[in-house]
Amino acid sequence: MSNLRVRFAPSPTGHLHIGGARTALFNFLLARKERGTFVLRIEDTDVERSTQGYVDAILDAMAWLGLDYDEGPFYQSRRSELYKNKVKELLVSGHAYRCYCRPEELEAKRNAAIQKGGKPRYDGRCRDRSDQPENSPYVVRFKTPREGYTEFLDKIKGPISVANEELDDLIIQRTDGTPTYNFVVVVDDAEMRINLIIRGDDHINNTPRQIPIYKALGYQIPEFAHVPMILGADKKRLSKRHGATSVMAYKEMGYLPEAMINYLVRLGWSFGDQEIFSLEELVDKFNLENVGKSAGVFNPEKLLWLNEHYIKTADTERLAGLITPLLTDKGIDVSKGPALDAVVKTLQDRAKTLVDLANSATFYYQAPQNYDSNAVTKFLTEDKKAILELMILQINRFDVLTSHHVEQLFGHIIDETGLKMGKIGPAVRVALVGTAQSPSLYDVIAVLGKEETLQRLQNAVDRLFS
Ligand code: GLU
Repeated sequence: MSNLRVRFAPSPTGHLHIGGARTALFNFLLARKERGTFVLRIEDTDVERSTQGYVDAILDAMAWLGLDYDEGPFYQSRRSELYKNKVKELLVSGHAYRCYCRPEELEAKRNAAIQKGGKPRYDGRCRDRSDQPENSPYVVRFKTPREGYTEFLDKIKGPISVANEELDDLIIQRTDGTPTYNFVVVVDDAEMRINLIIRGDDHINNTPRQIPIYKALGYQIPEFAHVPMILGADKKRLSKRHGATSVMAYKEMGYLPEAMINYLVRLGWSFGDQEIFSLEELVDKFNLENVGKSAGVFNPEKLLWLNEHYIKTADTERLAGLITPLLTDKGIDVSKGPALDAVVKTLQDRAKTLVDLANSATFYYQAPQNYDSNAVTKFLTEDKKAILELMILQINRFDVLTSHHVEQLFGHIIDETGLKMGKIGPAVRVALVGTAQSPSLYDVIAVLGKEETLQRLQNAVDRLFS
């Protein structure tokens, strides 16, 4: 175990989206690579927008992606005593003060500042007041230093420096006694001994506000790495307009978690021009040095391409297990029909998603209800009746049908009729499947088996030729 301690700190105000999942992944990979500790903290202080449903959704998505954490989940909503004590500590040490300014006053001052073209900032009226008006509501503000600079070396963005006079006296506790984000995040990261914070660069302006709080509380300041945002193809911040952004929506659409992981890691990190990475390889190769400084662009086609790759190379039995519920939803009982493994084997080379795979597996379990009329006109011309009948005759000679037998069978038919496979194959395919597309006919017949094949051929003869 190294002493690296990283964390993922989602707010349960929505589903786990692509950007959040990538942040979680980067933290996870670095923790695994360095044999450090990955902490999960649920930032649920916004009681109005946080829900248990979203907590569960985030945990489910992390489990689906395989992003296991070593500690947590910790919930900020269960840590209010700690935050209250830390506010007290700052009040006692003089690093924070009670502010009794009323919201209307502040609003008026803010508007006046904006009209003058200045930055709306708290004017510090209560900063040095010594009286404590009784029974007046107050917030607690952090006494941000007025001179000097707050500086840090971001591991992705490089050196960052902000003049302290630019920083406001941040509210750390609201009138109702609840603490605010910039304060609790410092207390938690410090108390959880997080020493490297990897998060989205939408938080980069918060970091200079947080650093003085670490100092005031006597905490060690962690290192920071702010990861660039993810944009849509139009270079605007990724949103629903660009397609599904929630990780679990991709699960529903039939994506494999390893495709998602591979896709997410490449949104901002690279290793030469390599595109395909196994998880073990990522744990070995991932580093912050190769995280780019500019925003990643979300490209759904590439995600689909990766998914296709992973379906092609996935274990057949696993795929069968994954599509069983999808087939059940279609009313198919896979125990009544060919073995699903054998079915998947004939299809996994050309499916882009699990949904595709399930859709294309249905014909094995459901004999054609209708025949595609274009395919019938083109391939099942009157002269093909004899071929189907000949085939029925030949099949009856076998006890079982392996793909080797099927090859033999077509050999006989070609010999007897003098027709080419190019004429025979499509006719048999339409008779068996109802359309002109299917995997290799040899495989289809072998998987359907003798009885089902005979029945489908006979049906086609009876229904299409009268
Ligand atoms: N809870 C914050 C968010 O979801 C993350 C805070 C952080 O990483 O510091 O955006």
